[in-house]
Amino acid sequence: MGSSTSTELISAVQVPVTILSMLEPEGLLWPKQAELKNNSAYDYIVVGGGSAGCVVSSRLAESGKDTVFMAEAGDDPPIISLLPGLFSLFPGSIYDYQYKSTEDTYAAKGQNNYTKLQAGKMLGGSDSLNHLLHTRGTPSDFDTWAEISKDSSWKYDNILQYFIKSERLVDEPTLKKYGKYHGTSGPMGISRQPRDSQVANLLKAFAEVGNPSVLDLNANITLGYTQPQFMIADKKRQTPAYSYLKNVKNNSNLFVSKNTRVTRIIFDDNKAVAIEAVYKGETYIFRANKEIIVSAGVYNTPQILQLSGIGPKEHLEKFDINVINDLPVGDNFVDQVSVTLVYKLESHIPFLPNLADVDLDPTAVPFPVLAGSVALNKSATNPDYQTYNLLLGQNTPLLPVACAVVFDLRDEICDKWQKEIINRDALYTVAALLQPKSRGTVRLASADPFKDPVITTGYFTNNEDLETMVKIIKDFTTVGNTEYFKKIGAELAGLDLDVCADKTKGSDEFWKCYILNHAGSPYHAVGSCPMGEVVDGNLKVKGVEGLRVVDASVMPKIPHGAPNAAVIMLAEKAADMIKSANAN
Ligand SMILES: Cc1cc2nc3c(=O)[nH]c(=O)nc-3n(C[C@H](O)[C@H](O)[C@H](O)COP(=O)(O)OP(=O)(O)OC[C@H]3O[C@@H](n4cnc5c(N)ncnc54)[C@H](O)[C@@H]3O)c2cc1C
Repeated sequence: MGSSTSTELISAVQVPVTILSMLEPEGLLWPKQAELKNNSAYDYIVVGGGSAGCVVSSRLAESGKDTVFMAEAGDDPPIISLLPGLFSLFPGSIYDYQYKSTEDTYAAKGQNNYTKLQAGKMLGGSDSLNHLLHTRGTPSDFDTWAEISKDSSWKYDNILQYFIKSERLVDEPTLKKYGKYHGTSGPMGISRQPRDSQVANLLKAFAEVGNPSVLDLNANITLGYTQPQFMIADKKRQTPAYSYLKNVKNNSNLFVSKNTRVTRIIFDDNKAVAIEAVYKGETYIFRANKEIIVSAGVYNTPQILQLSGIGPKEHLEKFDINVINDLPVGDNFVDQVSVTLVYKLESHIPFLPNLADVDLDPTAVPFPVLAGSVALNKSATNPDYQTYNLLLGQNTPLLPVACAVVFDLRDEICDKWQKEIINRDALYTVAALLQPKSRGTVRLASADPFKDPVITTGYFTNNEDLETMVKIIKDFTTVGNTEYFKKIGAELAGLDLDVCADKTKGSDEFWKCYILNHAGSPYHAVGSCPMGEVVDGNLKVKGVEGLRVVDASVMPKIPHGAPNAAVIMLAEKAADMIKSANAN
């Protein structure tokens, strides 16, 4: 199956899936649609029902006392969102905002000059379609947040309790060894998906080049290769739309309005008092007695703030938006740019898929996965890069699906890999630069709230990032010299690139060319409304009253890992802060 065929096939499957989802009985899995009344008032209004929004709303509603109104632009998730093996059905569907970057002829060549930026548009947000990896980052990440926000409550020793509170880890070996770092009674089920025999040789190879095999990168160990934890338990994706909301969805004090687009926040002087939202073409005003919490994610939170008059003055004035507070909203956008490498591994019986590798169970991750956290300086404690390594069985359709659908690389790139890899297993590696120096922006395209925001990723605009990425590739590919890789004749695929033909293969210049032609987003963007600049350590928007931001956009520094676990943690902490601020 070619790459364009796999993209077409996925699009074709999306239609019946969407229709099937419409048949789900209302209120069974997800909260019912609230009855809407213009000008109604609630204690708390939460804008956006994604990862953070579901956590905050659930925690604020759990006492049964305060009324909570959560407005979500998307619909209920389709049933497939609970099936971890089917995440490749989401890109390009109605559940994906399908954002793309501004034209980027430098770093987005591998994606036809526009980086594809998926984002979930449904209850549970991006957590209802993401790749399920549960990585917390390292302890020093949160100490840095505390420093930047000048608020010691963000120190690792103080926030660990919120990781624990959120979590129900179902993995005996990890609990036995690292139990004190984990929770067993939180809403979000977490498990590993061990495939020991399939990954043993690979783990050994990575260890041979200095990367120890470790059990748990979410405890006190920051470096090594592991079979990672996933947001999967009881054979279901643990999207907070399910794991958190199920505990409160029948509470009479929780009001969830789906397909409801919040268009702006309304201020009385400098106090946020209400939101304006559009539901089925009608405009409504909903009032907040206590607070408004914006949890619309790294792209839409800055958009809503800017539409409401909170943002860079010059930019807002261009659209005749009345400036409430001149803040650098949308300025610090950062994503862990990634590059993909594919190794040809073992060969099995020619032409047939290796049946042992075909996993048709939709309740599990469809292939063995290794995550590696690696420091370039071997005496450092924090990793410079993380790799997500998918072991794809020979001649299965998983390679074109991963390449063309999940990571959205150009068909020619994916087809080349597939052709070279025929009759071999593949190691599909996405290597992410964990702490890029480059920054992007999120800006308004117009004052129309229904227009997509303008997203500039900024990938590799700081040249140091490209230099570091070259070092990362050179470090990662040392695995090619290991006993196992040599024994099976493992080789990197797809290196014969016309665009890089004038560079000597393996030279720094060659790798730079390769990187700029194969870069993409691992979908780990954060930081567009960061603590210290836009919000304070309590996540209150600076210079105004009654308004907080609680989502990935407040992270002042990107964690050394995929961000979702930290989003859930910060939403748990925010709920406690909000409750205690409004206790009297
Ligand atoms: C394809 C993909 C794969 C990923 N894989 C991983 C992974 O494996 N591990 C990991 O840790 N992280 C992963 N991430 C990142 C992770 O999912 C996000 O960091 C996290 O979900 C962000 O949470 P959030 O609450 O900030 O935003 P979101 O979860 O995106 O929620 C924002 C919500 O706000 C709603 N909204 C937006 N605008 C409005 C509006 N105007 N009115 C009302 N509602 C609005 C949206 O519809 C959405 O539901 C992935 C992300 C993507 C897209």
